[in-house]
Amino acid sequence: MGKTINIAIDGPSGAGKSTTARKIAEQLGFLYVDTGALYRSIGYFVLQQGKNPSERNDVVPLLDGLSVSFDYVGGEQRVYVNGEDVSDYIRTQPVSMAASDVSPFPEVRSFLFQTQRAIAEKENIVMDGRDVGTVILPDADLKIFLTASAEVRAKRRFLELSQKGIPCDYETILADVNQRDYNDSHRAASPLRKADDAVLFDNSAYDEETTVALITNLIKEKLTI
Ligand code: C5P
Repeated sequence: MGKTINIAIDGPSGAGKSTTARKIAEQLGFLYVDTGALYRSIGYFVLQQGKNPSERNDVVPLLDGLSVSFDYVGGEQRVYVNGEDVSDYIRTQPVSMAASDVSPFPEVRSFLFQTQRAIAEKENIVMDGRDVGTVILPDADLKIFLTASAEVRAKRRFLELSQKGIPCDYETILADVNQRDYNDSHRAASPLRKADDAVLFDNSAYDEETTVALITNLIKEKLTI
């Protein structure tokens, strides 16, 4: 089998990475790899064990003998913890927080490293995350750093929650976005940053459809596929 094509999409929370990456993968006929789901699985497992996700001494011993894996069912990525499909339980707010808490620990990052690398060697993929272009796939064929202003990301989140009838407050959401940006970009292990050779794409002024169309064109142009 020849060399696979790897596209890395990194950026802060709320820039629309996962929707964009999923749609681009669909259009190119590539697999979409959601690396956040792996961090969420560990966060979920730590909570399930009654441990504190922000306590390194609670988290690290749990990695011993733990198995986190994923595969595709009907084109959708499913994530497994010790063989159990946890995909339906990892999108809650407590698990989001737990994922964010466990993600700075270098032991957690190296635990998930090989799982992410292995799929890139086997398949053509669009992988999204925080350190795909900088750490996981430094030789990716194309790297995109997808971002938007904190205000725009907060507004999108506010609309999303309001449409679901979930009470929320814009200022609180904006403060949360800024806090998460700070945490993600200031951690010692694999901080969020644009790889030097990544294309910076700020979609503050674009809707989802335009973002997908522009990035797909960019990919086709750069990779001549
Ligand atoms: O992307 P998603 O919101 O699902 O990620 C959940 C959490 O996992 C993020 O808040 C981030 O801290 C962490 N994460 C990470 N590295 C990645 C993907 C996610 O640290 N490659």
